[in-house]
Amino acid sequence: MKKLAIAVLMNTLFFSILLSAGSCEKNETEDQSIGIESILDVKSDGTTMINEEALWQNFSETPDLSEEELDMLGYMKDEEKLARDVYYALYDIWGALPFSNISKAEEQHLNAVILLLEFYGSDNVLVRDPGEFDNDEFKTLYYDLVSKGSESVVEAFKVGALIEELDIKDLQEYLEETSNANIELVFKNLLKGSRNHLRAFNRQFVRLGIDYDPQYIDQSQYDEIVNSPFEAGRQS
Ligand code: MN
Ligand code: MN
Repeated sequence: MKKLAIAVLMNTLFFSILLSAGSCEKNETEDQSIGIESILDVKSDGTTMINEEALWQNFSETPDLSEEELDMLGYMKDEEKLARDVYYALYDIWGALPFSNISKAEEQHLNAVILLLEFYGSDNVLVRDPGEFDNDEFKTLYYDLVSKGSESVVEAFKVGALIEELDIKDLQEYLEETSNANIELVFKNLLKGSRNHLRAFNRQFVRLGIDYDPQYIDQSQYDEIVNSPFEAGRQS
């Protein structure tokens, strides 16, 4: 179904590119842009959505993925799902808006990784039930983090920041290990999303007068991120 929709979209875009190639007037309206800046849609609270169609449009032909590259995509598929599942669970407990908005973004991040796995013909595209993961390490982490986040809403926001820190650390490490253009495109956008979400959770700490000690990234990187503005994409 998704593949069909994408095929239809690709055809539509292909013909609109053909048509616009005949015109010497360059149209730069946002809706017709298929440039890299349109992949992200950053909300005013920092929630960072990914436009799957724009992402797909920006994939390029590359050699097949290595085992290591397929493994890193599988790992990040679980990690984006961890964020989505934990935030859904914490929204259920606390009804706090950041978890509702950001969990929807994490669903799109998960889909972005799956889209890339589909692009390379991988069959690792199924999404398990909430709290179930391909890698059992994430199952343990899921239960630990939901349990911690159920202690208080402050602990829940700390769990949010911790997950974003973990994403930032892992994405940065993987980006050092690959030169595949499509993985770089997806991971760099996920990284922007994680930095924006970290800024969003940090806003809650500032609002509540809470101190937060980063665990996975160092204090200087944490400070640099939270003291800089949300990264777009396209503001809305
Ligand atoms: Mn994410
Ligand atoms: Mn995130």
